[in-house]
Amino acid sequence: MNDLRLDEKKGKLFQWQNQIVQMIAANEPLSNILNELVSIVEIYIPGSICSIQLYNKKTNTLEKTTSRTLPEEYIRAIDGIKAGPNVGSCGTAVYEKQTVIVTNVNTDPLWKHYRELPIKHGLKSCWSVPIFSPNQEVVGTFSLYYKEKREPTELQLHQLNEFAQLSGIAIDYRSSQEEIYRIKHTDPLTGLANASQFKIDAHQALEHAKAKKETVATFFIDLNRFNVINNIGGYDVGDDILVAVTDRLLKSLPPTVLLTRWNSDKFIVLLEDSTPEAVHSFSERIIDVLSIPFIRKEHDFIITISVGVSSFPNDSKTIDELIRHSEAAMNEAKLLGINQYRVYSSSIADRLTNRVHIEKELRQAIEDESFILHYQPQVSLSTEEIIGVEALIRWEHSTMGLVQPSNFIPIAEETGLIMPLGEWVLKTACQQMKEWEREGRPSIRLSVNLSSVQFRQKNLVSKIKQIIEETELDPANLVLEVTESTLVNHMKYTIIQLRELQAMGIQIALDDFGTLYSSLSYLKHFPLDIIKIDRSFVRTLLSDSKDIEIVNIIIRLGKSLQLKVLAEGIETKGQAHVLKEHHCHEGQGYLYSKPLPFEQLKKEIS
Ligand code: C2E
Ligand code: MG
Ligand code: MG
Repeated sequence: MNDLRLDEKKGKLFQWQNQIVQMIAANEPLSNILNELVSIVEIYIPGSICSIQLYNKKTNTLEKTTSRTLPEEYIRAIDGIKAGPNVGSCGTAVYEKQTVIVTNVNTDPLWKHYRELPIKHGLKSCWSVPIFSPNQEVVGTFSLYYKEKREPTELQLHQLNEFAQLSGIAIDYRSSQEEIYRIKHTDPLTGLANASQFKIDAHQALEHAKAKKETVATFFIDLNRFNVINNIGGYDVGDDILVAVTDRLLKSLPPTVLLTRWNSDKFIVLLEDSTPEAVHSFSERIIDVLSIPFIRKEHDFIITISVGVSSFPNDSKTIDELIRHSEAAMNEAKLLGINQYRVYSSSIADRLTNRVHIEKELRQAIEDESFILHYQPQVSLSTEEIIGVEALIRWEHSTMGLVQPSNFIPIAEETGLIMPLGEWVLKTACQQMKEWEREGRPSIRLSVNLSSVQFRQKNLVSKIKQIIEETELDPANLVLEVTESTLVNHMKYTIIQLRELQAMGIQIALDDFGTLYSSLSYLKHFPLDIIKIDRSFVRTLLSDSKDIEIVNIIIRLGKSLQLKVLAEGIETKGQAHVLKEHHCHEGQGYLYSKPLPFEQLKKEIS
């Protein structure tokens, strides 16, 4: 091999170059490609000792030295060296961006600070060519050492440049692959690992914990009602706050945690070696750092969160399970109120299994129409006369009896089953009210609840219109009850839908008012006719003076916006009295009547 003749050499070189190109195209690791390159060069140029170093622009260092023949000690010494003038052949070549030929390291001034090293290892000359990327950035250096003083021939210089060019292609290809990988695995907004990268990293953390018999915990963080921030501040403020949330988490958590923005306003933190005490203090810290208001556009934006925790190996065996369980625990934390955390437990597991079971049964029940409507009267507080009824659904379950809506409406909403179910409710209620009128009773107002999920249907308005036409109910007698979350969730489009409904003569009531985001200026934007004060305010009306104040404000607000105000959940005469005193128009509650089956309603009222 040492005596390759020129023609043979040319042929071989071509073959080797091809081999390297093929390795690049096959996406082989850069270290393999560079190793192959230095081996080829040492065969091609007998007596040479070849090395390739990569240049790190950020740190201005030469690193990741590849060489087959340079002594290990030598490699260790030159790895991490800073590029600059008079830094041997390689450091100078990178610094000056041109080929540096040193024929005698013993005497050459470029080596004045470093010559001990080559002398110790018997190296006499060193030629170094900077490696350029196709866009002319220096990405490394390609060097040949000899154990004797030597000067390159023209041909050798040419060949050296060719090899450097080939290295440049390999390095550049790899860094563009890395860049593509980075883009594919990073969340562009926060710069955090995205969900898929997080799962890869988390999997490794789990393997590590398995080997060391340690625990790992994931914390599923949900920012509550983040769409309110988007709606009020605009998406730029929303994005800005998500970045600020990331920043606070990164600054307040140990650097070893893994953090990802799982999706939109949900983050996951993975903590290694997590004791129960660590889980507790960690959850509290997350809640603390995020509860400080974010000031944007002169507004204080307050974020509340819910955190769910699950740990390996106690309750989850795989990363998917960890994530799923911590999300389930987060949903349970939501039920506890704002800024709460819950650790996954077997009772949550039971509930989840139960949910899956209920969903299956619910599908069947919708097919079989195993539901009935109860109607709760609504009265004028001043005359106590019935002015309307609210239709409330119940599930007639074969073994459980009558199931209350709070036990299945959330599942119907999550699974989309609320669409057919909501349609059934509206149709049945309209039909029964029409029957009520046909039997000679005076027409009264009919209120029907609409879930925020139903507003996602583009054809909601036309469906409602069709039901009204089919049942021939006077739309002026129909009230659709929506909740604050409906208004907040899909602001612009919902307003259009509500306006269309109002234009048909239907009235819109805002249900459970006061439980979510109650702001005077906010209400002005929505086409409403009635506000229903949530029963939580009515319940403590006599014991909590703050509630009287709130109710009073809501009533005054309603008046100023020319809306009717109805108080929900009136159970005592005392509550009714206070409400009347504050000029609340209408009421509904057990004091007047519980929700009644249709036949019973007919009997009680006529
Ligand atoms: P909601 O629309 O606020 O209905 C009023 C709820 O308060 C009813 O509960 C009613 O039975 C209860 N209630 C009325 N007066 C009193 C009282 O004096 N004291 C107490 N403690 N409670 C009272 P229900 O029937 O269990 O319904 C619960 C929720 O389920 C409803 O709250 C509504 O949000 C939802 N829902 C019921 N039917 C439907 C439906 O057809 N579609 C949709 N999307 N949601 C429904
Ligand atoms: Mg309601
Ligand atoms: Mg209500």
